[in-house]
Amino acid sequence: MGKLDGKVAVVTGASRGLGAVLVTGFAAEGAAVVLAARTRADLERVATACRQAGAVRAEVVPTDVTDAVQVDALVRTTVDRFGQLDVFVANAGVARPGLTDKPMTTLETYDLDVVEQLFRINAIGVWLCMKAALPVMSAGGSFIAIGSGLGRSAGARAGIYAVSKACVDVLVRIAAAETAERQVRVNGLSPGGMVDTYLFGPNKMPDYIKAHARWSEPEVIVPAAVWLASDDSRGITGVQLVAKEFNSMSPEQCFAALRAQVTAD
Ligand code: NAP
Repeated sequence: MGKLDGKVAVVTGASRGLGAVLVTGFAAEGAAVVLAARTRADLERVATACRQAGAVRAEVVPTDVTDAVQVDALVRTTVDRFGQLDVFVANAGVARPGLTDKPMTTLETYDLDVVEQLFRINAIGVWLCMKAALPVMSAGGSFIAIGSGLGRSAGARAGIYAVSKACVDVLVRIAAAETAERQVRVNGLSPGGMVDTYLFGPNKMPDYIKAHARWSEPEVIVPAAVWLASDDSRGITGVQLVAKEFNSMSPEQCFAALRAQVTAD
């Protein structure tokens, strides 16, 4: 028995990095999965991995989360093909478009087009996903937005990325309050810093960033995301969880620690 048996889950940014690990983890727990991002070939490769992990069904719907028509089509296609939408993970995000070869910069050094791009993907993209998905999710549905600790700890050089991720936290709290009556849950999940993703550009994590923090593998987030997506977290909504701290725990220990984190929130 998987923890997500019978559920249909959409994951954005599923073509690589954290999203690919997440969607494969959901597939291994019995979910039928829909993979969204802009690059079809990468999505197809991850869908194959999902099937190998045991997915009952894995389908690819290329989607740009900044385009309302495409996001609506993603949700409509999911409901048409699967008959339901139980879990939506708004994971697609970027850190520093066009700046990947430069050290982290101060606020006044950003160009407007970079700032607009960051907000369009990280904040407006999440809102568009909420706008399309939340109305079609029925009682028990779980919407998970991937945030970042930087959005909360924001210090010097955290950048516009941190501002856009703070927006995600606020979106989560508002949406959770607005959907509580229908028993649709909306929560935030932050992975902590992860190596082996492309958030910082095609060369992965630059050494100057690696040198300043503790990093973990994207896999650390899977138990926390499965828990939030599953009925085990029934009743929990409007919280921001941090996955990284549960790195070395068994799934059972992780679930207990997550419950404690919710209580302390
Ligand atoms: P990544 O390896 O660069 O993956 C980003 C994903 O988002 C890709 O699948 C990309 O696919 C997709 N994407 C980018 N723009 C998109 C758009 N406009 N529409 C649809 N999909 C789009 O980065 P990652 O590290 O896995 O990041 C995933 C999430 O984790 C992000 O929200 C990030 O902020 C968050 N996070 C990461 C870290 C970390 O240390 N890596 C820490 C905290 C939070 P296409 O290019 O094919 O569209």
